[in-house]
Amino acid sequence: MSDLEIRNLHVQINGKEILKGFTLDLPKGEVHAIMGPNGTGKSTLAYTLMGHPSYEVTEGEVIFKGQNILDLEPDERSRSGIFLAFQYPVAIPGVTVANFLRTAVNARRKAENPDDKGISIPEFRRMLKDKMSMLKMDPAFAGRYLNDGFSGGEKKRAEILQMAVLKPEIAILDETDSGLDIDALRIVSEGVNTLRGPELGVLVITHYQRILNYIRPDVVHVMMDGRIVESGDADLAQHLEEHGYDWVREKLENGTVS
Ligand code: ADP
Ligand code: MG
Repeated sequence: MSDLEIRNLHVQINGKEILKGFTLDLPKGEVHAIMGPNGTGKSTLAYTLMGHPSYEVTEGEVIFKGQNILDLEPDERSRSGIFLAFQYPVAIPGVTVANFLRTAVNARRKAENPDDKGISIPEFRRMLKDKMSMLKMDPAFAGRYLNDGFSGGEKKRAEILQMAVLKPEIAILDETDSGLDIDALRIVSEGVNTLRGPELGVLVITHYQRILNYIRPDVVHVMMDGRIVESGDADLAQHLEEHGYDWVREKLENGTVS
């Protein structure tokens, strides 16, 4: 049994069906990439997994730890170990990176043990400093308001920092590569590679193959028109880079994809 099982997921936004029978198994310890053209429903999948209220699930289920998480609120999903790094992270003026992360860590601890008194400030500072140095972030970052005036690269690093601090079991990265220059891409990818391990499943959602040169996926899925139409190993990403998506589209139109 896989750790995250997405079964025949159908999702609508404003009455328009975007996901049309999306099915995927993500075992812990594996990195799966989802590649697909713009508008194909990749972010819709990410938001639906996290429980965004605008996305209406009309059919299907998402099983995590033996439970259908579609019944859970976003914060419950997060506390159960699912993490989403946003394509467009939002700014929260007034809330520092450090405060935001400490609150999140404590919420997580409390979910596991209602008697937990929270992480001590020195312990938290030490942990945050370690993770920030891993991501080559200036320590002054911790005192800034979350994403407020951050550059594209800083926002993406802040997302990976959250992931490093929260230690999820399933991490979904939605176009974490977009807007990154090559140095930032390398740092973000190194961060993800450091966190990779038998206890973490990662879904790397991307339009371009570039990030997959740094975060090597175990499995690559091609998504089109709201579902997976092709799966393969890391070479499939290379093939898409060279040949584009047209050949998949043709296969789809010729009915060679079931
Ligand atoms: P991707 O991430 O693959 O580029 P999205 O999931 O963002 O694709 O979008 C899939 C489709 O859903 C697109 O046709 C997009 O226009 C539509 N869509 C996304 N968000 C909304 C929304 N809030 N209201 C209406 N349509 C939307
Ligand atoms: Mg998207």
